Amino acid sequence: MVYLNGEFIPKEQAQVSVMDRGFLFGDGVYEVIPVYSGKIFRLDEHLERLQNSLNSVQINNPYSPQQWREILHELLGFSSESSQSLYLQISRGADVSRKHSFDTLSPTVFIESSPLTPKTKTELEIGYRAMSQPDFRWQRCDIKSTSLLANIMYSQQAKQNQVEEVILHRDQLITEGATSNVFIVKDNVLFTHPTGNHILSGITRDLVLESAKHCHLSINESALTLTELLSADEVWISSSTREVMPIVQVDNQLINNGVIGKHWPQVYDYYQGLKHV
Ligand code: PLP
Repeated sequence: MVYLNGEFIPKEQAQVSVMDRGFLFGDGVYEVIPVYSGKIFRLDEHLERLQNSLNSVQINNPYSPQQWREILHELLGFSSESSQSLYLQISRGADVSRKHSFDTLSPTVFIESSPLTPKTKTELEIGYRAMSQPDFRWQRCDIKSTSLLANIMYSQQAKQNQVEEVILHRDQLITEGATSNVFIVKDNVLFTHPTGNHILSGITRDLVLESAKHCHLSINESALTLTELLSADEVWISSSTREVMPIVQVDNQLINNGVIGKHWPQVYDYYQGLKHV
């Protein structure tokens, strides 16, 4: 079952107009929210970011936080999976003709839930590979927009190169991954790009920072260069579905001789604890 514009219907029956601006322009925003043991993880934070994205592109939020909560829980009720990933998207809606500018339309709301199986600690401990690329995206990466062509191009490159993620750099400074935030540990200090228009302010990013503080790492929210990343003690990426994942090779360079560092297991454990409070 999926949710579409006020109705819970089988996915095969869910249809939207060809004039929907989500289809024509990618004119919409979205969220991905993990659910653990039936509990929606950090829902308030996701709804707040959703509101920020909607405000940035002038789409009216069709529901109050309480209405969102009720709809999401009702949708979750159709599945017996205890861990799920909620995908929700709001497009500006369907117009009568195709034009770039817009009038006020009735937004299209689509929500889907799918099973979520985060990688286990044992799987993660092996470490993952990434590649680097110049960040050619636009200057409003803070909006969680469904217009993801650049991110799609990077993710396809990652797939073709059999790496987990593409790590992006703008003017040599590391911004984030194509679908994640990036963290660098050097001499017991955790570095990550500051929030702003060059990255998506990840909900997991905040949780990783909270976890790292608890594990007595110093935090420095400033961008490092690609050269600094390549000589780091540890590199991690984070996202709602990947949680916090260690990277042990970037391009042809091994990080920490290709083995995970000492901080990642502690931060990982603390993060796991946050999921069940
Ligand atoms: N940055 C980008 C470009 C993303 O696409 C994502 C997640 O999809 C993130 C960061 C991480 O955000 P979150 O932790 O809220 O999932």
